[in-house]
Amino acid sequence: MASIFTRIVTGDIPAIKLYEDDMTLAFMDINPASRGHALVISKAELPGLLDLPPEVLTAVALATQKVARALVTVLQPDGVNIVQNNGAAAGQTVFHYHVHIIPRWDGDGALGLWTPRPGDPAALRELAEQVKAQLS
Ligand code: AMP
Repeated sequence: MASIFTRIVTGDIPAIKLYEDDMTLAFMDINPASRGHALVISKAELPGLLDLPPEVLTAVALATQKVARALVTVLQPDGVNIVQNNGAAAGQTVFHYHVHIIPRWDGDGALGLWTPRPGDPAALRELAEQVKAQLS
């Protein structure tokens, strides 16, 4: 069964659209975390970041910047979060690649991401070595 976002792409269900090109579509989030909260999706139904071919990743990134610039011009927020969830444990609820653009205002409390705590340097270095080995 097609994802809810594919059904928006095909016009089967409505959305308040902002921008569209060959590979991407942007529309207002139906449950906004802040005023102007928008989504940019790949038209291709791919679950997450790790599944994207470079051209789709690039197209969504460029569309995200374009839409974010327009939102910032219109709303004049103090900041903008770009959020992208992969997997249910990370908060993903729609398994069709999308990027959140969330305009922010000082003290709005719209988003809690994490509580920073100092990491153990030895553990950080050990993990970095494993990841670098994977990358080389
Ligand atoms: P995520 O939790 O990262 O998968 O985000 C999914 C987002 O899609 C949520 O912020 C929802 O509010 C939003 N959403 C789900 N259905 C719709 C819809 N029909 N139109 C617009 N936004 C939607």
